[in-house]
Amino acid sequence: MKLGLRNTKLISAETKIISRWHKRIEYGYPTPFLNREELCTPLFKLLRERSIYSRGRFGAWKYEVSNQDHSFMQGVEAVDNILIGAPELTLNLPGVVNACSAATFTMCCLGSDK
Ligand SMILES: Cc1cc2nc3c(=O)[nH]c(=O)nc-3n(C[C@H](O)[C@H](O)[C@H](O)COP(=O)(O)OP(=O)(O)OC[C@H]3O[C@@H](n4cnc5c(N)ncnc54)[C@H](O)[C@@H]3O)c2cc1C
Repeated sequence: MKLGLRNTKLISAETKIISRWHKRIEYGYPTPFLNREELCTPLFKLLRERSIYSRGRFGAWKYEVSNQDHSFMQGVEAVDNILIGAPELTLNLPGVVNACSAATFTMCCLGSDK
């Protein structure tokens, strides 16, 4: 880290570093892995049965739909699902939401060009 800050010129070579902090957190990042669905699907089913919508980067553990925009939409779509039964596209169709432009997405997934 010390060299990285200097190499990228975020700090100069003369800047005195007075403290550093580093912590490795086990299982601290929602990386995809083989059999993820088999492991996670029953857990999320149990949570849903208790009216818990586990969403967002760590909540849904779906790295492929866990940037800020995805995470935000997971929340929006969870609320829409609760209120009007709308499908949760970001959570359930990562390949579709990542492949489409906004206009295409609206047409092909929501059946409208409005
Ligand atoms: C280094 C880095 C760079 C990134 N760059 C980008 C980028 O350029 N563009 C982009 O779109 N996304 C980026 N992301 C991803 C982005 O940060 C996440 O997609 C987004 O923050 C996920 O939002 P979230 O609400 O799901 O989770 P978070 O933002 O992680 O929010 C979860 C919150 O829950 C709190 N929490 C956890 N456990 C508990 C508990 N038991 N009780 C109470 N509170 C709890 C946490 O403290 C945290 O505040 C980056 C992430 C990292 C780490």
